[in-house]
Amino acid sequence: MIFDKYDVIVVGGGHAGCEAAAAAANMGNRTLLITMNMNAMAAMSCNPAVGGIAKGQIVREIDALGGQMGIVADKTMIQFRMLNKSKGPAVWSPRVQSDKFEFAAEWRNVLEKTRNLEFWQDHVDSLIVDGDIIKGVHCQMGGEIYSKTVILTNGTFLNGKIFIGEKSFSGGRISESASYGITEQLVSLGFEADRMKTGTPMRIDGRSIDFSRLSEQKGDDDVTGFSYLEIEKPKQQRSCHIAYTSPEVHNILRRGFEKSPLFTGRIKGIGPRYCPSIEDKIERFADKDFHQLFVEPEGRTTVEYYLNGFSSSLPEDIQYEALRHIEGFENAKIFRPGYAIEYDFFPPNQLYHSLETHQIHGLFFAGQINGTTGYEEAAAQGLMAGINAHRLIHDLEPIVLRRDEAYIGVLIDDLITKSVDEPYRMFTSRAEYRILLRQDNADARLTEKGFDIGLATEDRLNHYRNKYEKVNELVSYLKSTNVGPDSINGLLESKGTPGIANKMRLSQILTRPQINLRDMIENVDCLKGKYDLNTESARNIIEEAEIIVKYEGYIDKEREVADKLNRLENVRLSPDFDYYALNSLTMEAREKLTKHKPQTLGQASRISGISPADISVIAIFLGR
Ligand code: FAD
Repeated sequence: MIFDKYDVIVVGGGHAGCEAAAAAANMGNRTLLITMNMNAMAAMSCNPAVGGIAKGQIVREIDALGGQMGIVADKTMIQFRMLNKSKGPAVWSPRVQSDKFEFAAEWRNVLEKTRNLEFWQDHVDSLIVDGDIIKGVHCQMGGEIYSKTVILTNGTFLNGKIFIGEKSFSGGRISESASYGITEQLVSLGFEADRMKTGTPMRIDGRSIDFSRLSEQKGDDDVTGFSYLEIEKPKQQRSCHIAYTSPEVHNILRRGFEKSPLFTGRIKGIGPRYCPSIEDKIERFADKDFHQLFVEPEGRTTVEYYLNGFSSSLPEDIQYEALRHIEGFENAKIFRPGYAIEYDFFPPNQLYHSLETHQIHGLFFAGQINGTTGYEEAAAQGLMAGINAHRLIHDLEPIVLRRDEAYIGVLIDDLITKSVDEPYRMFTSRAEYRILLRQDNADARLTEKGFDIGLATEDRLNHYRNKYEKVNELVSYLKSTNVGPDSINGLLESKGTPGIANKMRLSQILTRPQINLRDMIENVDCLKGKYDLNTESARNIIEEAEIIVKYEGYIDKEREVADKLNRLENVRLSPDFDYYALNSLTMEAREKLTKHKPQTLGQASRISGISPADISVIAIFLGR
């Protein structure tokens, strides 16, 4: 007998599956990760980068809760940039360019070192279900394997079909086979499934690119990374480069439109609006003469480059000819063309906020299978599914993060209450409380919770407590210490802001936009020498204290609004609530509420088509 009975089986070793398996096993559950190819763990199917706008915040939240993605990205980093640094801290977003080979290898290393975690390389072709209870999975080679819960994270593999021009063939990702059987079985059990598509650009041989004709984009000098554990950073970073398409390039691409699977209707699935293919961009923005492209190295030493912004499913000869008309790519050679992929997903309004399915008790879905796109969105769902599978097994209430607590909360709440009609990716604009959900304070929001549920380690908790003890000390000092004109006017005037006539609180001076805390520490006597600005921990403490002081008014205001709205979240709704019995609800509201089964009045209020009047009707019925 190869297999015992498991607590958790995770199907799929992508970004969602790895995070789910690590979380479930680290919380003490006997976990089996089954994936088709153990050499492609957490494979970066598309660009070799983690984070970016709003996604970077998610990675920091995963890290704060005790997940692994941030640590793996930091360890395999080849470039770091804090995006949006010229804007307010509410939207600062870390982005790491990783070596994609090291990233996959490091993830496997992390998983192999995880206690309670076993592996099996196989193709899961169906689920074992008894009535409405999950019992395990069936594999092509291994046969039946039993477990108390199953987390499906099949990504783009379910009935995956690849398109390049007029060619199309089955596959879950280039050179990997698709997954068959699961969708059909779930549909026969009453699940709704649909199709989506995505695409990726060609990979280029860097030896054939003339970098002297492109503009260089270097990494930041100040490398914070994702993990609050302050992982050692690489000494050297690799640059990216910027290139541009031109009208000539667009004309060549247009010649391939008649063979485009997209425009000829052979791809039916809906694609990601914010990650369109180059042919989509040319068609949608016909008046634009050029589009910006980012030339990103795929690793620390490899010559392989990813051409961000040039995703395409046009015939490979058209892609290649167009490429060779881009400045700097006149002699380019490619490793492989871009392609599009169409796959099945399950509209996520079939899930509870725990990511357990309505129809089958103990079955969870996480990642692209729920209609999202992106490694970070997938990893976040995997983490939460792993946590909630553990909670279910131990008869504990699920962990559901609130919208004012985490982007992960926004993500899952949006999926469940609004469902998706196109691939869902995270944006800062999806969050109502951006100044609360900053990338710098995910540890303050989530680490205690991560520890309480048994995921974040004691070391992480202590690290977090230590940091905030020092942050709070510094904030109190700034708020209680006055400084005189002699000590500060030199700095103020050098920064183009008027000097002071009388003593003033340090915190008051810090609220001036021209002044930052680092400058004050370097120039004001009472602060000088208190912090070693060369250490990462001191820089983190200073940044946090500065944000708290500078943005206190905004933070307090947003907190107040969030607390008010949270009261609606405390009004729970039964999944069996008979909305059709409430005559004063509109028919649309009755239908949508019955379909989405919101767990609280707050969730009900965010379902599209549910008006404040509908919410009042329910609140009055409940006697609130
Ligand atoms: P995946 O990373 O797809 O992992 C799924 C895993 O499940 C794989 O390990 C697979 O082997 C395994 N598996 C599947 N079925 C079975 C089975 N039956 N039995 C055993 N194992 C199974 N995202 C963006 O944000 N922007 C983009 O532009 C973008 N472009 C993309 C282009 C392409 C061509 C592809 C393939 C993906 C693209 N993505 C893009 C999506 C991104 O790769 C995914 O969002 C992310 O990888 C999803 O993670 P996941 O864990 O849900 O699934």
